[in-house]
Amino acid sequence: MPRPIVATIHIESIQHNLARARACAPASKVWGVLKANGYGHGLERAMRGLAGADGLALIEPDNAVRLRELGWTKPVLLLEGWFDPADLDMMALHDVNGALHCAAQLEMLEAAKLSRPVNVHLKMNTGMNRLGFKPEEFAAVHARLRALPHVGEITLMTHFANADEAAHPRVSIREQIRRFQAGSQGLPGPRSLSNSAGIFQMPELGGELVSDWIRPGIMLYGGTPGGKSAAELGLRPAMTLESELISVQRIDAGDCVGYGSRFQADGPMTIGVVACGYADGYPRHAPQDTPVLVDGVRTRIVGRVSMDMLTVDLTPVPDARVGGRVVLWGEGMPIDEVAEASGTIGYELMCALAPRVRVRES
Ligand SMILES: *Cc1c(COP(=O)(O)O)cnc(C)c1O
Repeated sequence: MPRPIVATIHIESIQHNLARARACAPASKVWGVLKANGYGHGLERAMRGLAGADGLALIEPDNAVRLRELGWTKPVLLLEGWFDPADLDMMALHDVNGALHCAAQLEMLEAAKLSRPVNVHLKMNTGMNRLGFKPEEFAAVHARLRALPHVGEITLMTHFANADEAAHPRVSIREQIRRFQAGSQGLPGPRSLSNSAGIFQMPELGGELVSDWIRPGIMLYGGTPGGKSAAELGLRPAMTLESELISVQRIDAGDCVGYGSRFQADGPMTIGVVACGYADGYPRHAPQDTPVLVDGVRTRIVGRVSMDMLTVDLTPVPDARVGGRVVLWGEGMPIDEVAEASGTIGYELMCALAPRVRVRES
C-alpha cells in the first residue's frame, strides 16, 4: 500500500482558469506558462489542461523538447532564451521561440549557423533589473537582430515587477508600460507584456496596457498573483493535496507535541497525526495555527512539521478517527492561506510538491 498522501490535479480547473485569463484580455493571444514542471502540476498534465492556449512558455530547454515529443504543435517559448549554442540548434530543430535578454546571448546568436530561422522575443528591462536590455539600447539591438538571416519574427517583451500593486511607490506598472512604449516606439512586431498580476490589471488600465500576447502562469493553477484572493479573482484550485490521519492521541494538560515540544496543551485534548511532512513539500515553517481541513472541518496545525508527519488539533472534529480525510490545500483550503501563514506564496508551495507524492487526475 502506498502512503495515503496524494495530490489530485483538476484539469478542468486549469481550463476554467485559462478562460478567466482570456476574459480579462479578450484581444490577446495566450502563452500558457508551464515552467517548473507546470508549477508542480506535471508538465504533461499542464499541457493537456492548456490545450486551448495559443502557445506554451517555459524556462527549461529539455522540457521544450519534451512538449514536442508529447505532440504539442503550437508555438513554444523559452522565457529565458538559450543558455548555450546547443540550445539554439535545438530551437531551430524543434521550432522553439526564445527570449533574448543580454549581450552574451546576442553574440551566441550572431555566431550561430542554424538550419532554420528562430523566432526571437527581445526583452526590455523596464525597471525590474533582472533580465533585458535598457530602453535606450533596445532599438540598436533590434537592428542587429533584423540583420541576421536566421532570425524570424521578432516579438517585443517586458516583465512587470509590481503588477499586483497598481500604485507601487517605487516602480509602478504604469511607469514600466511608459518605459516600454518609449523604448519600443516605431519598432515593428507583436508585444508581449503581462504576467497574471498584469492580466488582472488590464481591464482597469484599458488602452494603456496593450499586449498582443499575455503570459499567465500562477492564475492558471488557481493561485493568486497577489492583491485579491484566488476565489475573489474567480480562480479554481488546480491541485488538492490531501492525506489521512494515521494516529489519534489523547493528551492531558501540560503534555507536549512533536520535536522541540513546541506545543503544550492547556487542558485535555485530542491530537491527530497526518501523513504529510516537509519531505512531501509541506512547508516546515508552517507555524502553529496554520489552517487545515479534517473531515471537511477547519482546524489548525499544532507543533512542528516533521519530515513525514504533522500534527493537528482535533478539538473542532471530535469524531475524527484514523483514516480521516485531511486536506492540506486545494479544494476547500486555499493554498494561498497556507502559504501566507508560512511566510511564502502559493507559487513556492505548488512548485515544491515532492516527487514521492502520488499524483492522480480528476
Ligand atoms: C513565470 C513568468 C510568467 C508568469 O508569471 P505568473 O506570475 O506566474 O503569472 C510570465 N512571464 C515571464 C517572463 C515569466 O518568467
